[in-house]
Amino acid sequence: MSAMAEPEVNVLRHLPAVAAVLATAEAALLVERHGRVAATEAIRQVIDAARDTLRVIPADAPSATELAQRAHGLLEARMPGLRPLFNLTGVVLHTNLGRAVLAEAAIEAAVEAMRHAVALEYDLADGTRGERDDHVRALLCELTGAQDATVVNNNAAAVLLCLNTLALGREAVVSRGELIEIGGAFRMPDIMARAGARMVEVGTTNRTHAADYRSAFNEHTGVVLKVHTSNYRIQGFTAEVGARELAAMADAAGVPLLNDLGSGSLVDLSRYGLAREPTVREAVEEGARLVTFSGDKLLGGPQAGFIVGDRALIAAINRNPLKRALRVDKLRLAAIEATLNLYRDPDRLAQRLPTLRFLARARDDIEAQAHRLQPIVAERLGPAFTVDVGECLSQVGSGALPLDTLASAALLIRPRGSQGALERLAAALRALPRPIIGRIADGALRLDLRCLDEADEARLAAALSRLDIDGVAAHTP
Ligand SMILES: *Cc1c(COP(=O)(O)O)cnc(C)c1O
Repeated sequence: MSAMAEPEVNVLRHLPAVAAVLATAEAALLVERHGRVAATEAIRQVIDAARDTLRVIPADAPSATELAQRAHGLLEARMPGLRPLFNLTGVVLHTNLGRAVLAEAAIEAAVEAMRHAVALEYDLADGTRGERDDHVRALLCELTGAQDATVVNNNAAAVLLCLNTLALGREAVVSRGELIEIGGAFRMPDIMARAGARMVEVGTTNRTHAADYRSAFNEHTGVVLKVHTSNYRIQGFTAEVGARELAAMADAAGVPLLNDLGSGSLVDLSRYGLAREPTVREAVEEGARLVTFSGDKLLGGPQAGFIVGDRALIAAINRNPLKRALRVDKLRLAAIEATLNLYRDPDRLAQRLPTLRFLARARDDIEAQAHRLQPIVAERLGPAFTVDVGECLSQVGSGALPLDTLASAALLIRPRGSQGALERLAAALRALPRPIIGRIADGALRLDLRCLDEADEARLAAALSRLDIDGVAAHTP
């Protein structure tokens, strides 16, 4: 150690120990509020930080009370990671931002289920044990026309469970044009392998014919799979066998058809001015023995995977021990039941279901909102940035309708100075107590307002008032 370091070592010796800080009146308050474990950890952190500072900047050691106050600041500033944020990315079903925002009715149902005991697996009519799926089974059958239905953790689980039930140690036939990767680690060949099925690929990437399937069917075939290519389209010189024709061929061969719809809508979206996605009812009607779809994509509910179809096959799925490992809890069942109930009244669905409300919002409505917010945001950001109202295109997200964009309006924020200021602004907006998430493209930070309800405008303005704009603008690169 150099001679210059000597005086610092003496100062460090005066730095209070954890026990000394804990003994202060200020620390007693901390322990009462946050508990001994969190308080001690915070005190340890501020002592470490003080030590690091004293090593480079000569000064007097802070007192025990001062350190306790710093620990207090640290604990108060700690914000939960899953706190609400403003999704102004223009992607309505943003997987990284939690996909669907739930309807009020679903939120209330989940809260009640959290707060109280519920008849989750209890038959209130005769006081005997019941089935947890019964709460949503009838609704799913009514909305899809299927004989029976069951619910699991998500659609990935639904596909895994169907494959494992129908094709464990057997063959699963699938077109090469439908070997999807959904993101994360959901790749159809891997899911097949984990389900214990031997994958038999038929056709080519762009063309698969009826004869390709027919020649693959044999006594080892457990299932034939049709996968909705949710997040991509094969265009040009293409051929695929439709679900209706495939179902008929599979039936003739005594093989069940599983149709994985991915998003799978319960209503015809063209009714709300959106592009058509195959509905679950259509997929059932086309003859697939089982149809799987997600709860938190176009359906607009909580994360869940639905399996609807043949009574005997659903019974076999429910007997599979994996079903127990993939089941959903009372919170989600309550939210699912409430969400599905909204579909019984299609006239008011777009009003009550946030996902559909956002998707169906007219561009003019969003543009009017942008004009209302423009002066507020411009005033808040000050002279370092310009704020304009501009056109943009929103996306559905979650792999649904990948090629369809929705005309929308945004606030376009550009720096008057360096581009670095824009990056700093985006970072500062993300660091707010209620973060604001936009997208930087073409030199502008774009805040697409499609997912901002009118009632949230004041909240956005309030969130912006917490922004340290001087800190963002004053920074010299
Ligand atoms: C999204 C999707 C899945 C996975 O669904 P999760 O609910 O996200 O687990 C499976 N298959 C298809 C075709 C999908 O689009």
